[in-house]
Amino acid sequence: MLRQASSAALSLLATRPSVACSAVLLPRSSAVLGARTITAASPRASGLFEGLVSGSRNCLAKAITLVESTRYDDKDDASELLSMVLRSSSIRQYKTQDNFKSTFRIGLSGAPGVGKSSFIEQFGLFLIERGHKVAVLAVDPSSARTGGSILGDKTRMEFLSRHDDAFVRPSPSSCTLGGVARNTNEAILICEAAGYDIILVETVGVGQSETMVADMVDIFTLLVAPGGGDELQGMKRGIMELSDLVLVNKADGVLAVPARMAQMEYISALKFMQPVNALWRPEVLLMSAAEKKGIDEVWNSMKLYYKTMYDSKSLFQRRAEQNKTWMWRQITEELLWRLRHDPKVKASLLQLEESVKNGRITPGSAAEQVLHQFIADQQVRP
Ligand code: GDP
Repeated sequence: MLRQASSAALSLLATRPSVACSAVLLPRSSAVLGARTITAASPRASGLFEGLVSGSRNCLAKAITLVESTRYDDKDDASELLSMVLRSSSIRQYKTQDNFKSTFRIGLSGAPGVGKSSFIEQFGLFLIERGHKVAVLAVDPSSARTGGSILGDKTRMEFLSRHDDAFVRPSPSSCTLGGVARNTNEAILICEAAGYDIILVETVGVGQSETMVADMVDIFTLLVAPGGGDELQGMKRGIMELSDLVLVNKADGVLAVPARMAQMEYISALKFMQPVNALWRPEVLLMSAAEKKGIDEVWNSMKLYYKTMYDSKSLFQRRAEQNKTWMWRQITEELLWRLRHDPKVKASLLQLEESVKNGRITPGSAAEQVLHQFIADQQVRP
């Protein structure tokens, strides 16, 4: 059996008003949710759940740490917590100026230095003024490979991270990219259950991270900055194709004119690309995080996107498809992990790899042998 595939059944989530709560790990086996009581076998999971739905940031942080954990003995608690989060779903009206009927998951990608942190700081504060509660999560491929982090240190988003209506989660510090992204996917659900209705998921456009982020958000935004006039040269085509919105930041001072030129370049580049979304033509907008210019135009465009997607029922169709994608990602990742760690397979892998390199056996036959051995080994286990 695979370990619990906890991201398999993601669904819409409601948020609830936050209440001050000091609960960390309550020694109880049930959590009260409105009129319903959700029972759980794990006091740890129900304690965290109760804490996070009643507004404890401490519980929220611990809950995310739990689902991010790679420890095998955390798996059951994590999975129980996520089932409680999923069972708490219902639709409610959000008391913001925007009257959204669900949460809104916004992906943001861009190379280091384009102004992602500066934008999120201003954008997050702008949204809070409109009544939203904002959570910021990060998928950072550098931390997956090196244990270091391109995205995160504690001084980022100084004002936003200290605001009562914001939760800024530093990027996870270890794990594979798949693991990091998968856990971020689950962290979104936890933030939503904790009452955050706008979830910003940030990543640098390196490796596969942008595809993974695009697979967990409702809208994918690309942030760029004007440079030497050939912005598009180094840009991966894939990331442009994924983008529902392109924001040209730093449209201020001496960069105002280059920013407008960059905007034109992106507009014409997008004309030659097949839109991924039949209902939406990606827009290219100018803004300046430093001068707080263009933020409301960005939000108007995102709201129009939300309305278009919500009214056509595409928002939840997209989430449903994403759930399926994540289920398969997790199956693939888990199977591969198990295969690589299977003692019998491990023992013969080195030799097989060597034989493939020397041309004594074809890659296809070697793969077949490995799979054969793995399946046989699984069958003899209790
Ligand atoms: P990140 O690496 O993408 O998160 O980028 P940062 O937000 O850390 O910004 C990188 C640099 O660009 C910093 O020196 C910022 O002060 C600067 N910056 C960010 N936004 C703007 C802007 O709108 N205009 C100008 N002129 N500089 C900006």
